[in-house]
Amino acid sequence: MADTVHCDYLVIGGGAAGCIVARRLAERPENHVILLEAGKSDEGDPLATDLSRLEEQDESYDWGYQARPVASSAQQIFYNRARMLGGCANHNDCAFLVPPASDFDEWVRLGAVGWDYASNRGAFDRIEQRLHIEASPPGNSLSRAFIDACQALGLRELNLRETVAAGTGWFPLNVKGALRQSSSIAYLHPLASLPANLEVRCETLATRLLLEQGRVVGADTESGPIRSNAEVILCGGSINTPQLLMLSGIGRGPDLHNLGISVQCDLPGVGNNLLDHVAANLACELHAASPPWQLTPCESTALIRIDADAPAPDVLFHYVLMLRDKYSNVDHFSAIEHGVKLSPNVARPRSRGSLRLASSDYHDHPLIDLNYFSDAEGYDQRILIAGLRYARALVATPALAAFIRREVLPGPDVGDDDDWLDYIRASAETVYHPSGTCRMGAATDRLAVVTPDLRVRGMAGLRVADASVFPSMVSVNICNTVMMIAERAAAMILQE
Ligand SMILES: Cc1cc2nc3c(=O)[nH]c(=O)nc-3n(C[C@H](O)[C@H](O)[C@H](O)COP(=O)(O)OP(=O)(O)OC[C@H]3O[C@@H](n4cnc5c(N)ncnc54)[C@H](O)[C@@H]3O)c2cc1C
Repeated sequence: MADTVHCDYLVIGGGAAGCIVARRLAERPENHVILLEAGKSDEGDPLATDLSRLEEQDESYDWGYQARPVASSAQQIFYNRARMLGGCANHNDCAFLVPPASDFDEWVRLGAVGWDYASNRGAFDRIEQRLHIEASPPGNSLSRAFIDACQALGLRELNLRETVAAGTGWFPLNVKGALRQSSSIAYLHPLASLPANLEVRCETLATRLLLEQGRVVGADTESGPIRSNAEVILCGGSINTPQLLMLSGIGRGPDLHNLGISVQCDLPGVGNNLLDHVAANLACELHAASPPWQLTPCESTALIRIDADAPAPDVLFHYVLMLRDKYSNVDHFSAIEHGVKLSPNVARPRSRGSLRLASSDYHDHPLIDLNYFSDAEGYDQRILIAGLRYARALVATPALAAFIRREVLPGPDVGDDDDWLDYIRASAETVYHPSGTCRMGAATDRLAVVTPDLRVRGMAGLRVADASVFPSMVSVNICNTVMMIAERAAAMILQE
């Protein structure tokens, strides 16, 4: 049996959040910090670190999850989650929009006291001091045509680095040249120069938490146990963090019991409240190939307000200069050589999905139910259909019409609400923003998993700091909010 390894802080998961938490905790030289990452190192691997080579990442960089998009359907979609140092921040498109302040007002309303925008701003600033953000337009004429089309429909062009509001513009990107500014690259590289009190252990999967008398004291890994004197911080992301909690007996008691897992802490909220940005496509064939893009085929965007009284835009667009990409679960494009996708998503979805264990075996993938379009008011489907109708209006403007031969999906026959509804239910896509599965809330909230200081309720020595703690969805791409949570988590721990 492998010898037990000891540390003060054990950080599980070296993704967008975990790299920051570990690095910041190790800034105090007396802290011995171990960061565990199940996947390989990203250092020196251009497929992981160069944004323009994203399409070359194969399944060895991914956990290989599948998810059911809508209830009462057998359909599954690919639900990419990175398995490498840097996590999904090395798997993503590097779109960098800071959420509007109203998103955090909602967090506070839901019990996340102290997480208002003004209190978070310092942590966003610390990230932006560390990461290089590119705000200048890359200049592709087909991306420019999208912005012009939006302006023709009355949207103003914004510098989205400075103002995130209803409007259109170029996506700011967290890149330096083609080099991603993920948290592994910006906070840990070069690994050989890390301080001696910070150990990064890649290809080391944590399989179960070690518990002693209501306290978490470390974790079992595939290479042996690791004990922590101070705390364990879970940063495995919105799928793996609740999975590891449940495998360790922390979750909804009856479910764990049915799987033969001994219940250590009955926390019914673990795996509930799965949030995600749901999208659907208006896909068009082009007369000719798109002019080449520099780093990513997703350069320009629009934020649209559908409901006049909404606190922030209700729809965020991804406009993609190609039809086939490795993340697409729709295969209607094979006969089309050149195309674009206009992909609106619901910025603040109201549907809630869930995640459950399939078995007590850590090798088994969890069961992921996205439960899209399940909110009682029908808000999500109404907003998405409005976004798709807006996309069709954009394509009809002279700026875009000049490039477009025909609408391929859903096709001109789809016009009334029922047709649109059938279409979105059959073709719903994810923007890969799962969050909320260990949501933060007041100490009195039975379904909250962590309190506003990110401690797991009913368990000493354990915190969560990753996308799973979101109480509700933020209106834009979520990576910098996850990084903000990581910065604040480390600051809280160091302050104590
Ligand atoms: C395809 C795609 C495109 C995206 N595009 C954007 C974008 O353009 N802009 C944006 O803002 N956001 C984007 N996102 C979302 C963003 O990248 C994620 O929300 C963010 O990285 C989540 O951070 P996290 O720390 O919660 O989890 P992750 O970054 O997923 O990190 C979790 C890490 O923990 C490791 N891990 C898990 N379990 C264990 C275990 N038991 N033991 C050891 N290690 C473990 C995993 O391997 C992983 O490396 C995208 C995501 C994807 C997948």
